[in-house]
Amino acid sequence: MAEALTNWAGNITYSVKELQRPRSLDALRALVSRAGRVRVLGSGHSFNEIADPGSEGALLSLTGLPPSVEVDAAARTVRVAGGVRYAELARAVHERGFALPNMASLPHISVAGSVATGTHGSGNANGSLAAPVREVELVLADGSALTIGRGDPRFSGAVTSLGALGVVTALTLDLEPDFEVAQHVFGRLPLTELDFETVSASAYSVSLFTDWRRSGFVQAWVKRRTDVPWDGFPWAEPATEAMHPVPGMPAGNCTQQFGVPGPWHERLPHFRPEFTPSSGAELQSEYLLPRPHATGALRALDAIRERIAPVLQVCEVRTVAADRQWLSPAYGRDTVAFHFTWVENTAAVLPVVRRVEEALTPFDPRPHWGKVFTMAAPVVRGRYPQLAEFRNLAAELDPTGTFRNAFVGEVLGG
Ligand SMILES: Cc1cc2nc3c(=O)[nH]c(=O)nc-3n(C[C@H](O)[C@H](O)[C@H](O)COP(=O)(O)OP(=O)(O)OC[C@H]3O[C@@H](n4cnc5c(N)ncnc54)[C@H](O)[C@@H]3O)c2cc1C
Repeated sequence: MAEALTNWAGNITYSVKELQRPRSLDALRALVSRAGRVRVLGSGHSFNEIADPGSEGALLSLTGLPPSVEVDAAARTVRVAGGVRYAELARAVHERGFALPNMASLPHISVAGSVATGTHGSGNANGSLAAPVREVELVLADGSALTIGRGDPRFSGAVTSLGALGVVTALTLDLEPDFEVAQHVFGRLPLTELDFETVSASAYSVSLFTDWRRSGFVQAWVKRRTDVPWDGFPWAEPATEAMHPVPGMPAGNCTQQFGVPGPWHERLPHFRPEFTPSSGAELQSEYLLPRPHATGALRALDAIRERIAPVLQVCEVRTVAADRQWLSPAYGRDTVAFHFTWVENTAAVLPVVRRVEEALTPFDPRPHWGKVFTMAAPVVRGRYPQLAEFRNLAAELDPTGTFRNAFVGEVLGG
């Protein structure tokens, strides 16, 4: 009997037993046009059923197609195939003297799967990982190919698309000149008198960590560009040993600290590509809300920290610049993101997830599409002013609902 097919965390077992790996674009097109229902699995790092095709559907992996990464130095762009992960993309781009503006906490995730869910790193001026995408190449339900670029009115729905429009066979991204980053880790940062706006603006990328066992933060990860003057981080003491954000986990899995300058892709993620990121045995949730609510939301979470702490490994607070992707959790608002790495126990975690959602409700939170949430679909829909535009686009490009699984159906409603 075939082994169960699960996501990276192992908390989701997909409804199909087999992953289909077409070996050519033609084979992919034929497969898609024959199948009634299709979803693509990226690197499987999402924590919910977003990629599940349902028991009658087909789950595709693009890892059988050539993992091409084509840098166009003159145009300052890179075209990357749909199955490639950030670790490989970043290495190739760096080798050619270029950079991506930002990365998530780990480089193990696929590019197409990440931009599909609005995955992000940190930095007040840094958009989500979808921000540098300038063109999306799709295979539609009838097997035909369609390219949507910036400037096309459909582009605002085409990048952070939850995989609902078609198979993303390639993406073209804008590049920047290569840059170096130095990463500094600091210790305790109390909540009292925390000026979140100033702290989060104090470097290119700032992440604040708390275990909510007491008020305030226990670590601050500060990533500064070495080509930009830096005024330091006067609110906390520098760490005296290398740190992992999750208490008790080996710091050796993490990227270089102590302010040693290095290439952007070896500092912007928290975790090194050759190790298991984070703790491995975990669930995750994340809520994105307008940045001016950061202090109010921190107080609201502080008030329920005795509920949170027993099932929490670590909570990370980051920022994301506003963007114009209709389904982006950072759509139209400069954002603060509250991330929770929970223990690996769904039954114990879900009631606390609900409590966190209640506490954050006054601040208009949007859940991360790739993580655990319990918010009712109509509530989530109400938080996306352009949802109807996306629904129309999905109906136009996928009239047969081939790429519409239960998760997407719930989200889009109607
Ligand atoms: C340890 C860990 C750390 C994380 N850190 C962060 C973080 O720092 N920031 C953050 O925002 N998130 C983070 N996440 C969440 C993660 O980035 C997202 O869940 C992301 O979507 C994972 O990418 P994936 O390729 O694994 O996607 P999958 O889970 O495989 O798929 C996600 C969605 O994309 C679709 N999809 C994938 N590839 C294609 C394609 N080629 N064509 C069409 N649709 C496609 C799938 O159908 C699905 O709907 C983390 C997750 C883990 C496990």
